[in-house]
Amino acid sequence: MGKKSNSFFSWVITIVGIIGTIFGGMNWEFVKELLNIIWSAVIAFFTFKIPVWTVLSGIVLIILILYFINLFSAPYIPEFVKNYNTASIKGFKWTWRWVYDGNGWDIDNLKPHCPMCATTLKTDVVPKGLSLSCPREDFKKLLPFDFKEDVRIIIKDEVDRRG
Ligand SMILES: [Zn+2]
Repeated sequence: MGKKSNSFFSWVITIVGIIGTIFGGMNWEFVKELLNIIWSAVIAFFTFKIPVWTVLSGIVLIILILYFINLFSAPYIPEFVKNYNTASIKGFKWTWRWVYDGNGWDIDNLKPHCPMCATTLKTDVVPKGLSLSCPREDFKKLLPFDFKEDVRIIIKDEVDRRG
């Protein structure tokens, strides 16, 4: 960084300062001072001789810190999340998966299965309630709207009972 780049910079801050003063109503002396400080910081940063090992160990340290933050912030996986994903409730076999929503574990993708062939049943909301039908055969059943909600509550209750 020679005299040339410094004089170029002086020229730039003069222009920026004038524009700032005219259009932004800024304090010219303040703007000039601020730009000078920024420029000095940039020069100091690029000319300061930092040993390579310092930089490398810094990077390694940051990676280790991030690794441990990630390790300890991962949610603890309870036993029921791994093992309790299917049950026979209210005459149907149900499957689901557990999702962590930030506060606790919730049931997701809750599906009833056909009592005859175990295929996932089609679930349709019809005017009278919830219609379950097997895509493979002639099986159809009309259930109350909140049928699935009941199953959800039963599954969660079962988890609570198991402790
Ligand atoms: Zn079936």
